[in-house]
Amino acid sequence: MAVLGIPILEDLYPSTMDMWPLEAKEFNRNWTFYENLKAGRLTTTKCKSCGHVAYPPRVICPECYSEDLEYTDLPTKGKVIIFSEEVKGVPLGFDSPLIHAVIDLGVDPARRVLTRVINCPAGTLQRGDEVQLAVFPVPALPIDKGRQGTIMSERVFFAFEPVKK
Ligand SMILES: [Zn+2]
Repeated sequence: MAVLGIPILEDLYPSTMDMWPLEAKEFNRNWTFYENLKAGRLTTTKCKSCGHVAYPPRVICPECYSEDLEYTDLPTKGKVIIFSEEVKGVPLGFDSPLIHAVIDLGVDPARRVLTRVINCPAGTLQRGDEVQLAVFPVPALPIDKGRQGTIMSERVFFAFEPVKK
């Protein structure tokens, strides 16, 4: 198993350095969010009782405390409101430039999303630029299934990337 960006680990699973969510059903009640990401969809939860849409996805509605939630699609394109760009001293596991941005998805109530922007050369991003969802693989998670042995749970995460002009 290749551990992206951490060559010193020589293919060992870095349990204490794992910065990605435990996405599998066994660990995460919001596993549907990651399954949807694998299909290229950015989704969040909508309350079936009161209609409230919360981002990031929840397991309980923050408005009426109902647990009866469903997943709803969010736009996969947005505009950069503001961003920061780190070129030197980027943390282990990330490439330079490390860009974080607040993206306006153009719809309420999950209008503003804090995300990384990838596939973007340093110094080129500007406020107002159009960006789109980019789903990428992250190191798989080994899950101990007892007598069935260890299975590798494939994982993905998301960022946004500039829309090619
Ligand atoms: Zn509700």
